[in-house]
Amino acid sequence: MAGLQETGVGALGLWPRIRKDPAMLEPRPHLVDYAAVRASFSWEKARAALSGLPGGGLNIAHEAVHRHAQGPRAQKTALRWIGKDGSRHEFSYAQLSAEARRFASALRSLGAAEGERVFLLLGRVPELYVAMFGALSAKAVVSPLFSAFGPEPIATRIGMGQGAVLITTPELYRRKVEGIRANLPSLRHVVLVERAGEAEPVAGTIRWSELVSGASPDFAVPPTDAEDLALLHFTSGTTGRPKGAVHVHGAVLTHYVTGLYALDLHEEDIFWCTADPGWVTGTSYGVIAPLVHGVINLVVEAEFDAQSWYGILASEKVTVWYTAPTAIRMMMKLGAEAVRGYDLSALRFMASVGEPLNPEGVMFGVEAFGRPFHDNWWQTETGGIMIANFAAMDVKPGSMGRPLPGIEAAIVRREPDGSVTQIEEPMVEGELALKKGWPSMFRGYLGEEERYRKCFADDWYLTGDLAKKDEEGYFWFVGRADDVIKSAGHLIGPFEVESALMEHPAVAEAAVIGKPDPIVGEVVKAFVALKPGFAASEELRRDLLGHARKRLGPAVAPKEIDFRDNLPRTRSGKIMRRLLKARELGLPEGDLSTLESDERPVAQGPAAGPLPAENRPGDRP
Ligand code: AMP
Repeated sequence: MAGLQETGVGALGLWPRIRKDPAMLEPRPHLVDYAAVRASFSWEKARAALSGLPGGGLNIAHEAVHRHAQGPRAQKTALRWIGKDGSRHEFSYAQLSAEARRFASALRSLGAAEGERVFLLLGRVPELYVAMFGALSAKAVVSPLFSAFGPEPIATRIGMGQGAVLITTPELYRRKVEGIRANLPSLRHVVLVERAGEAEPVAGTIRWSELVSGASPDFAVPPTDAEDLALLHFTSGTTGRPKGAVHVHGAVLTHYVTGLYALDLHEEDIFWCTADPGWVTGTSYGVIAPLVHGVINLVVEAEFDAQSWYGILASEKVTVWYTAPTAIRMMMKLGAEAVRGYDLSALRFMASVGEPLNPEGVMFGVEAFGRPFHDNWWQTETGGIMIANFAAMDVKPGSMGRPLPGIEAAIVRREPDGSVTQIEEPMVEGELALKKGWPSMFRGYLGEEERYRKCFADDWYLTGDLAKKDEEGYFWFVGRADDVIKSAGHLIGPFEVESALMEHPAVAEAAVIGKPDPIVGEVVKAFVALKPGFAASEELRRDLLGHARKRLGPAVAPKEIDFRDNLPRTRSGKIMRRLLKARELGLPEGDLSTLESDERPVAQGPAAGPLPAENRPGDRP
């Protein structure tokens, strides 16, 4: 690869450092002199690259779609969609803009007012992009849901978000929504994106085709303040219900800046983000950022399959590819040889996010594709990439890279008085914190002010991740400070899984941990204590697995269940997931001073019902 030079030794001394020669990179990366760009960067100056609405204000749909439709990119391809069956569909910026405006008019005809919540439960189908930009144009708040969720996570999220309109498919509606609809009083309209052969009307729903066919494409985006709410993304904490992180239209400035520096997008790029738009990466980078940059955004409906991905990279001449460690590890299983024979000469930059990327994964990139995967770090709450390995910067395999221009990141220690102290010594572990105030910072957890407030101390946003920083300012991920599970890049709250298990008549209590897995990072493993009168058996285990899968969907349900007579608890009655995990992995059990007893029979324990999990130091609410 041009620009990839000899290797030295990385910060941990274990992996070779991948040196870059920016002079050899083509096109010249947007960020070459890291220190200089950081020093001169300001969000105000960066804002000049966006158009703003006539009369001021920022609207994501305007910046990503409508402004291009009114300029020289009008006929350029915005979305290049490849369906599961190989069918293709292209939307120019002008077409996407017209369709989005039409959908915005249709929403208004349904009585959806500004600020109302529109939920999207769709796979990667063209209507998802139309609906998202249409709803944002109409100043509705968009909440994408992962289509592999089961009825329970869907009901919780629509209920918490007071969803007024849901866009889904007939198949997803029948399997996942129909049964819970009566419990969702806020949900006034369900719009079904039907396909050929699904012509049967479904009671209580509206057909997409009928809704949009009569709607006008002349919708004018109303004045939008940068602080107006735009997106609602649910994420998981250790305890309680999922958290609804709210984001504003002004977040589009972060999408622009990170698309520029972290993904190094250039006008002629063909960009492919493999994440599902049901998660924040799939929205910020699978939908918004590439279009803000006016590049061709490739959308592939099918799920992961290594060989077909290589085929797509080659035939579509993808230049910038943003993917995830689980997919990389699955490709590694096939070996670098599987990539040979594909012409990947167009591929220029590869990035990864969502979970720790092992150094082996970075090096697999070099071996198989001739360039490293560039790890970057962010989370639902940050709305966009915060720390990254940049195209022109040396890569230290295993490191997440350095903070974006405009982002101040630090390793901090929480003090007992609630303040935080920055840890200046290199490679000392602490909590990763970000100086608050970047445009895509979440503006709250829906209806939970206290939970939001607790994420901040002394102007720092505390991320809940443990990390280290080396002497060159590269950040190294250590782990989560809490019990949240990361499986195939998806954040899973143990409490949500435990609560679903507790609904089973045989279950007295349940505790859920993430068990390390070489491919998906962690798999969800549950420990279950049974009520008197129930005996552990293979059949019951299968029944419980099936129950959880049905309620939660395959992405969230446990893959393994073990029976225990009792679960270890603290004296205050909280289940010690940490101890279960240590025992499962054969690790030291740590400080057990708060352990009450795990010999206590369940029947004498605290009343059945989901119990709060233990809060460890550094736990976020
Ligand atoms: P989510 O909010 O679902 O995007 O999950 C965010 C969490 O994923 C972070 O707080 C980290 O724990 C983890 N994560 C994201 N990117 C990385 C990365 N590059 N390396 C390690 N962990 C990551």
